[in-house]
Amino acid sequence: MARVVQKFGGSSVADAESIKRVARRIVATRNDGHEVCVVISAMGDTTDDLLDLAKQISPNPPGRELDMLLTAGERMSAALLAMAIHDQGATAVSYTGSQAGVITTAAHGNARIIDITPGRIEKSLTQGDIVIVAGFQGVAQDTKDVTTLGRGASDTTAVALAAALGAAYCEIYTDVDGVFTADPRLVPSARRIPHICYEEMLELAANGAKVLHLRCVEYARREHVPVHVRSSFSDQPGTWVADVTEEPGGTMEAALITGVAHDLSEAKITVVGVPDQVGKAARVFNALGEADINIDMIVQNASVSDATTAITFTLPDADRPTAIEALRAIQAEIGFQDIIYNDQIGKVSVIGVGMRSHPGVTARFFTALAEAGVNIGMIATSEIRISVVVDEADVPAAVRAAHTAFGLDSESGEAVVYAGTGR
Ligand code: ASP
Ligand code: MG
Repeated sequence: MARVVQKFGGSSVADAESIKRVARRIVATRNDGHEVCVVISAMGDTTDDLLDLAKQISPNPPGRELDMLLTAGERMSAALLAMAIHDQGATAVSYTGSQAGVITTAAHGNARIIDITPGRIEKSLTQGDIVIVAGFQGVAQDTKDVTTLGRGASDTTAVALAAALGAAYCEIYTDVDGVFTADPRLVPSARRIPHICYEEMLELAANGAKVLHLRCVEYARREHVPVHVRSSFSDQPGTWVADVTEEPGGTMEAALITGVAHDLSEAKITVVGVPDQVGKAARVFNALGEADINIDMIVQNASVSDATTAITFTLPDADRPTAIEALRAIQAEIGFQDIIYNDQIGKVSVIGVGMRSHPGVTARFFTALAEAGVNIGMIATSEIRISVVVDEADVPAAVRAAHTAFGLDSESGEAVVYAGTGR
């Protein structure tokens, strides 16, 4: 008997039938003798629909009220799931994030978990009840207001609860069979990765792979929670995210590249005609930092004859207006000429701990891009990742070319996308 946390995403509970199906799976786990704590997302596209509704009421709704609204989505699915479980003869009790003891900062829309006080969950589990917790929400320590943890953060709720409850592992049920070598929606020959280490999973999540929330992976790594990402539509084994990639005693040589990630959510800004003087770049990035903008890649061109330089960086496209405003405010002071931007870009990254010990990975990646006719706009690397910025229209070709070049294609075409709009 083990204590386990199971999380089901919105596409797994999109309608009444799906909720009953998920309930059957949960009851089966309970009947196997396990203590089960379930974290649930809002049904289907509920969160998007609620956001759309709020926008129709007000262009800029107060964060506190938006969180009151959005947390209702998870509360609905939690209660419905508990009802479905009762109907199948087991006992279940649903809790909001606040009731479950998820204590957060007061940053509405993007709160962080500070502490978990799972007293009520513990009590219910000990009584033999299945516990259902509404994902992606908590209560602020100071203000006592209800908060949300950011889009997709039910994964984070699940891993945080698994750590707090001392669960043996955390299962993340989703609409694909696990973590794939590339997005199966883009690369039909993508393969399921059976085991992946936290480090690689972090890079995948940070560079556009949407299967797991980035903060969930950070949390899992810090607390050493093994995470099993798998489909709620099948009984196939999924992907184990844990400390080691290889099974004990395994003889398989680690792959050079574990996966290819892509990200269409960024934009590129170039600050043109920046005087080539000490402190100008610092001033540019201070202004962006003060505006709370997360910068990704940065390139500064060599000075040209007029003693100016151009600074190009990428950032989330959603932050572009704020960034441009912050830069305009210091244009006269810095004395740069102009700001130009491009939001029709995409980032393609190859990721693998294998590249630490193998030269030539960059050459192979760039050759594949060249043969696919893809032009590289920007380049960035970490110890286990190479990323390029390309035209948005070139992203599918670039991902497929890299996937093939590193021998990741499967012959059988095993990738199945069971549900979800990918919205
Ligand atoms: N329902 C929330 C969202 O759509 C949280 C989640 O699904 O993880 O972002
Ligand atoms: Mg999700």
